[in-house]
Amino acid sequence: MLPDAVMQKAQQEMLDWNGTGMSVMEMSHRGPEYTSIAEKAEADLRELMGISDDYAVLFLQGGASLQFPMIPMNLLRGKKTADYFNTGAWSTKAIAEARQFCKVNIVTDSTANHFTTIAGPEQWSLSNDAAYVHYTPNETIHGLEFADIPDVGDVPLIADLSSTILSRPIDVSKFGMIYAGAQKNIGPAGLCIVIIRKDLLGEVLPGTPTMLNYKTHADNGSMFNTPATYSWYLAGLVFDWLKQQGGLEAMATLNQRKAAKLYAAIDGSDFYANPVDIRYRSWMNVPFTLADDKLDKQFLQQAAEQHLLTLKGHRDLGGMRASIYNAMPEEGVDALINFMNEFERKNG
Ligand code: PMP
Repeated sequence: MLPDAVMQKAQQEMLDWNGTGMSVMEMSHRGPEYTSIAEKAEADLRELMGISDDYAVLFLQGGASLQFPMIPMNLLRGKKTADYFNTGAWSTKAIAEARQFCKVNIVTDSTANHFTTIAGPEQWSLSNDAAYVHYTPNETIHGLEFADIPDVGDVPLIADLSSTILSRPIDVSKFGMIYAGAQKNIGPAGLCIVIIRKDLLGEVLPGTPTMLNYKTHADNGSMFNTPATYSWYLAGLVFDWLKQQGGLEAMATLNQRKAAKLYAAIDGSDFYANPVDIRYRSWMNVPFTLADDKLDKQFLQQAAEQHLLTLKGHRDLGGMRASIYNAMPEEGVDALINFMNEFERKNG
């Protein structure tokens, strides 16, 4: 979901932004109008997340998936090994891509437990010569989320925050780089945000194309090429909305409450189940199964009749998945729980 207020504002401004007679879609990305939109979005994101001047904030294209190869290309910086946590489908994809460029050391691997839990630090194997450590704080498909930021000492820590960015405050200073595809908590697809410590920029693998060098984008205000202007503008409207909601502390309180009541409903029933270790359950993505998967289709159909949409689980996992990102109001979660209770009463 995107917040209704954001889409209404975009609708109001669609044909004429701020009396300019232009739609944002029609603006030159180098003109003063668009520059003010872009700069405000970056300033608001910096304020929301507490991002210091030690970091560049980039508004890129190619999604989180393009960061998977860009990370080793930019951040190996003369080293041969990188450390990766494997806690789900997205870590697995990041690892496969990194293996094309370097030796990947797996810190811990949750494959054997079907990505339902994460081993504790005493079982991690961090290498002593890693260029960086990569992890996926929230695995979107499996609904598996780290409870804390892993302590990896002085090695730059890189986080794929795609599905949990802006869901709560986070100490950016603990990271070498954070990246996130926009299409969950930031705005519509087409944009990927990268927050990178400036001292890590500039030493790329030989042969790295200019467009895949983070420094190119840092040096050019993310306008080396034409950025995804409309997605960037909408992201800015979302940042504004988040500030009006009380910022990330307020989002954290709300998101924790939304998730807690949905998990309580699942755990309190013999009809629904979520397999994830309760210490590592996602606030944003709640996968669950029905006692009898032959009822899945019926569940989805009846849910859709009540405007409870996109509940179908990921194709790799089956079952259901509730995506309860920032823009999902608490009433949406309440409506889902009521529907689930009713469905269980009729079919359980
Ligand atoms: N990482 C995570 C955690 C994701 O959830 C996704 C998308 N669902 C991706 C990476 C890939 O993002 P994109 O489609 O923007 O490349």
